[in-house]
Amino acid sequence: MGIEATLPQDSFVTTQLTKVINWARRSSLWPLPFATACCGIELMATASSRYDLARFGAEVMRFSPRQSDLLIVAGRVAIKMMPVLQRIYQQMAEPKWVVSMGACASTGGVFDTYAVVQGIDQFLPVDVYVPGCPPRPETLIEGIMAIQRIVDEDGLPSKGGLRQPLEIAVQPTHEVKPQPVPLTVGRGV
Ligand code: SF4
Repeated sequence: MGIEATLPQDSFVTTQLTKVINWARRSSLWPLPFATACCGIELMATASSRYDLARFGAEVMRFSPRQSDLLIVAGRVAIKMMPVLQRIYQQMAEPKWVVSMGACASTGGVFDTYAVVQGIDQFLPVDVYVPGCPPRPETLIEGIMAIQRIVDEDGLPSKGGLRQPLEIAVQPTHEVKPQPVPLTVGRGV
């Protein structure tokens, strides 16, 4: 039932402009899917008819950064790919939000190797982490609803302030650890 039908005749509603703007923003998030691995399949399922991300107004996936305001990183990110991801993030207009979907994007997951970024939050400001390997579509929807709550509360990412400048990924994110067992690399017999 629409709000017009529930109000008595000739009555009116007052609100604040920021509330209306935030309501419009949270109801029309445009995600940019940066899907690099298996988590991307669950991301696709989230937009399918069974889970119907359109219920939250966030089904319009865009691969053009300037039309998107919600970056969803789904899957592991190689160190060579991070500058590309950062460029995409920089091209998105403010206000913008970032979801780190799955163990790999958030921590590197099982890929404890020099080639995989051990958590994209070392290089991007992440707003919501979605746990799982892979997260189910319901979990991603919960993450998107968390973004909507952030929009409702302060309207802008990073608690009302502008984003911090990004660092370009030139240094390794991996801390070298000793081999678990003594290992000798030789010619063999
Ligand atoms: S978190 Fe699991 S499902 Fe997601 S990309 Fe990594 S290995 Fe694949």
